[in-house]
Amino acid sequence: MTENLILAPLVLLVGAQFTLYVLGWLLCGLLIADERPAAWCWAAFMLLLAVGMVLAAQRNETRGWWAYVGSAISWLLSYAMLNRGLELFLRLPGWDRVQVAIVAVTTAALVCIGPSEAMASWRVLFSYGGLALFMLVSVLRAWPAFKVEFGWKLASLLAIPGVLIVAGFSVRLAQQSQNMDRSLEMHQDSFANIELLLNYLISAALFNFSMLGMLLTRFVVRLRELTMRDPLTAALNRRAFDQELQREWRRAKRSGIGFALLMIDVDHFKHINDEHGHPAGDAVLAEVARRLRQASRDTDVVARIGGEEFAVILQQTTRIGKAVEAAERLRIVIGAQPVAVGDRSIVVHASIGVALARSVDVTPSGVIQRADAALYAAKTAGRDRVAADTP
Ligand code: GH3
Ligand code: MG
Ligand code: MG
Repeated sequence: MTENLILAPLVLLVGAQFTLYVLGWLLCGLLIADERPAAWCWAAFMLLLAVGMVLAAQRNETRGWWAYVGSAISWLLSYAMLNRGLELFLRLPGWDRVQVAIVAVTTAALVCIGPSEAMASWRVLFSYGGLALFMLVSVLRAWPAFKVEFGWKLASLLAIPGVLIVAGFSVRLAQQSQNMDRSLEMHQDSFANIELLLNYLISAALFNFSMLGMLLTRFVVRLRELTMRDPLTAALNRRAFDQELQREWRRAKRSGIGFALLMIDVDHFKHINDEHGHPAGDAVLAEVARRLRQASRDTDVVARIGGEEFAVILQQTTRIGKAVEAAERLRIVIGAQPVAVGDRSIVVHASIGVALARSVDVTPSGVIQRADAALYAAKTAGRDRVAADTP
């Protein structure tokens, strides 16, 4: 009696929660075209999970097929949709054969077992076994892609719901296989229903948080890329350069270890545009940026700060000789080979001004001014060369 008093509102609550999830993912798919296939798979995941729950709630003494067999199959299909959504979201190659095999074997077993009470323990073994296996496969497949895209800390958080489900089902499986005389199947007149519903309430919330978290993280990272990178060369833009310079500045003040700044300007770039056309000029800029990145250390900051002007911050560099050496290397790499654009071969050179951050500098703009002055000196001395600011 008391149980029904708790159960009825709980079923309503879970039903409302699932309806909201389904609507939320449908809306998400409508709004975010890029992730539409994944969002709609997750809407189907939640819908099938809810269908399974409604069917299971019909379980009573008449032991109907749908209530006992259909609900388990619905849950299995819902997991298939969750997994499909993950594959689409993470751009993983489909693993249809494995998924179809798990669904087919489990479904066939459940259909053969039927709704009878005598076989309830076997039904538990097959339905929980299939679900646990499906979830395990999903987590294992998603894990490497999670790590690459979100880093291992966030990836671990995202994997928690899946791991909890696998662990929970494994415990159930172990308990059932220890005692096949007593079935652990959810049934209307057992308190286990409340446990089932609470389980649903919590694990569905965790799953949806996790899926939404992935979507939002991807969005924020993309937005950051858009605001920080120059689309033509994929180098950091002026805004990102200013931030990096401030960061390097503070780091240098804290540690007492300075940095060097290289100002790089492509020589006679106007001629390149005039002779080969603006699109060819664009291709040259993209190639110069690529060569700069390729020849720099991972810790160096490479940015495009103007039309044909680039800047490189050399972290933890305190000797002007070292900075000039690095600048020479970059200058040679830029001009080593003509840039091939279509059937044209465009010769490119650049001039580089080098300056060190010094204790007399009050703000980073002092370093920029001195690097600019050195660049001007390199230009007036005949271009295609490195000039250093010397105190
Ligand atoms: P210098 O050796 O003195 O640096 O001569 P320069 O011709 O390189 O310098 P100047 O500043 O006179 O010309 C820079 C040119 O770069 C002018 C501008 O049209 C061109 N430019 C700026 N941004 C872009 C761009 O995004 N794409 C292309 N193709 N050209 C650009
Ligand atoms: Mg210029
Ligand atoms: Mg120039």
